[in-house]
Parts: sequence; C-alpha cells; structure tokens
Amino acid sequence: YIKYIKIYLHVNVKRPTFVVNKIINAKTKKMKKILVTGGAGFIGSHLCTRLINEGNYVYCLDNLFTGSKRNITHLLDNPNFEFILHDVEKPYIMDEIDEIYNLACPASPIHYQYDAIKTIKTSVMGAINMLGLAKKTGAKILQASTSEVYGDPMVHPQVESYWGNVNPIGIRSCYDEGKRCAETLFMDYHRQNGIKIKIIRIFNTYGPRMLPNDGRVVSNFVVQALQNKDITIYGDGKQTRSFQYVDDLIEAMVRVMATDDDFIGPVNLGNPHEFTMLELAEKVLELTKSKSKLRFEPLPHDDPKQRKPDITLAKEALNWEPKVQLEEGLKHIVEYFRSYE
Ligand code: NAD
Ligand code: UDP
Repeated sequence: YIKYIKIYLHVNVKRPTFVVNKIINAKTKKMKKILVTGGAGFIGSHLCTRLINEGNYVYCLDNLFTGSKRNITHLLDNPNFEFILHDVEKPYIMDEIDEIYNLACPASPIHYQYDAIKTIKTSVMGAINMLGLAKKTGAKILQASTSEVYGDPMVHPQVESYWGNVNPIGIRSCYDEGKRCAETLFMDYHRQNGIKIKIIRIFNTYGPRMLPNDGRVVSNFVVQALQNKDITIYGDGKQTRSFQYVDDLIEAMVRVMATDDDFIGPVNLGNPHEFTMLELAEKVLELTKSKSKLRFEPLPHDDPKQRKPDITLAKEALNWEPKVQLEEGLKHIVEYFRSYE
C-alpha cells in the first residue's frame, strides 16, 4: 500500500523523494503531529529534538528573529521534521495537529526591548493565532509563560496563586504584560470554547544553544569569562535568580503536556536554588579559571530584586523536580561556548 502511494505521488506530483517520504510518514504512521512555535530558539530546539526522539512528527515554526537554523541543523534531514519560516503574528493554517507548544517570543531583555511593539504583538497576536489553530483542529496547546508575570515580586518564593507586581508602563512591560495577556487569552479560550490548554511559568533557564550575544546573565558571564573580558555585573550584584538547566525544563514540559485535560496550570517550572549575581560570577570564574575582573554597571530599570520558584505544584502534579544543579549545568554551557565557532 505504501509502495503504491509512493509510486502515485512520484509519478503524478514529481515531488522530491524526501518530501514524499515526509508525507507518507505523517499520513500512514500513527504519529502524533506536534507544532512547536519558536522551535529554532534555545529552548524550542531542545524541545523539537526530544519530541523527534520520542517518535513524533514535528513542525518547527519560527521567524528566526533570535532563533537560528544552526540550532536545528541536526533535525533538518529527519523525515519526521519540517521547518516552517513564519511569523506567529500572522495566522497559520493547518488541517491536522495534535499538540501545540507556543514558545515564539524573544526572551532576553535586550532582544525583547529591541522592538517592544513587535514583542507585545508576538505574545498577544501569536497567542490568538495559535489558540485559533487549536480551536480549529482540536489540538491541545501549551503556553510558555514566564516568572516575569510576577514582576518584581513582593512574595518570596513565588507561588502560582500570587498575582504579581508588574509595572505596566516600564521597559520590561512589553514582555511581562504581553505574557500576562497571553495567559488571559488562554484562560478565556478555555472557559469560552473548551480549548485544552496548559500554562507553564518558566523561571530563568540556561544551557547549550543560547546565542553568545543572547544578553542574559549566564551566557554573558560564560562568554566574557572564556574571552578574559570583564564580567558585567548590573547594580550591586546582590539581586537573585534561580537557574534551571534546559534538560530539566524539557522533561517537565513534556510531562505537563501529558497530564489529564483537567490540569491546566499555571504551573511554575524552575530550579529553586537561589543565587546572587555575584555568586554566579564567582562560580563561572572558578570553573573557567578566567582572568576576568568584575565590572559594575547600572542596574536596568525594573530589574526584579529577587526570584525563586515555589515548585510544590510541579512536584505533586508531574512527579518532577530539577536534577541538574548549577555547577554541573555550567560545565555543559562552558563546554558549548568553548567549542562555539
Ligand atoms: P529564544 O529567543 O532563544 O527563542 C525564541 C524563539 O522564538 C526564537 O527562535 C525566535 O526566532 C522565535 N520568535 C520570536 N518572535 C517570533 C515570531 N513573531 N514568530 C515566530 N517566531 C518567533 O528564547 P528561549 O529562551 O528559547 O525562550 C523560549 C520561550 O520560553 C519564550 O516564549 C520565552 O518567553 C519563554 N521563557 C524562557 C525563559 C528562559 O529563561 N529561557 C524563561 C521564561 C520564559
Ligand atoms: N545581569 C547582569 N549582568 C549581565 C546580564 C544580566 O548582572 O551581563 C543581571 C540582570 O540585571 C538581572 C539578572 O542578571 O538582575 C538576570 O538577568 P537576565 O537578563 O539573565 O534575566 P531576567 O532579568 O529576565 O531574569
């Protein structure tokens, strides 16, 4: 049967064989079809790899703003993988899709502030367009939300029931309020249209495939240390973050998608070990044996003073907790940037 479809397609449509193989794979095998928006980015590319390794058919949709083909080169020849160059600000039509992971959005402050209007459109229009696609196809849809919905938090550690402390008119608002609005849209599509949703709030995540010029603290410090350049500490360096290694996050994301339909979140996904930026700098310097010096620079506006997830819900609902601690995770990202060309 497959042989005849192959011959039919070849003779009648004259498509290249690898395209035919992709069509046959998706149509004949009982594979889950999964769309990952932002799939060529740092987290998205790890997620696509995991989903492919689990035997799914993966569509990776990205406008390549902060993502890169380099992150997915290992997948491009896979017959179960398709790259779609598209902007989520515009609708994308598909007939059949089982699951959608909506990750498209720049995540580093320097990148999301570069074109703030575009950032908020990406979050809001992207959510509307992907929820529309979920409504049409009946797909389950997961939103990559963020700890930034808690803003500069007055509750510590942050629990999901905390509504947050976000400045609606500051330089971070395009990202924070965009993500908050996306959460609202997800909840309303769920309540009004019965869409199957999941909302995850991701806390600072790092790992290989971050861009050297990503601008976030872990990649900045590691790249600076490897080049023996000054380590740029913003403010006094006493502000805190809790850093999650990317593999732990991917494991949790897949588990969230697999939960029963009545589990919708929001659920915090992060590593609760909290560090000051000075402590992070020390660890990076120690690991890289770098000669870099610390250079103090002004703290950006609205920079949250502290951040640490309460992950009680994730532990209970997903039977999950992070396994990779900072010392080990840093070794992987140092290795990655050492061999980056
Ligand atoms: P990233 O910048 O590496 O990835 C974002 C991807 O989205 C890129 O590939 C980019 O090209 C793509 N993209 C951006 N705008 C788009 C648009 N309009 N249309 C289509 N594609 C678009 O960042 P990341 O760290 O991998 O983050 C992925 C997601 O996880 C983001 O939604 C981010 O908000 C969320 N998140 C990440 C973290 C973290 O610490 N890494 C924390 C909280 C939330
Ligand atoms: N930061 C820093 N030096 C850098 C980059 C960032 O001290 O080169 C600080 C930043 O001011 C913030 C923390 O590190 O307090 C985490 O910043 P990042 O941009 O990684 O993430 P976010 O602020 O979104 O949590």
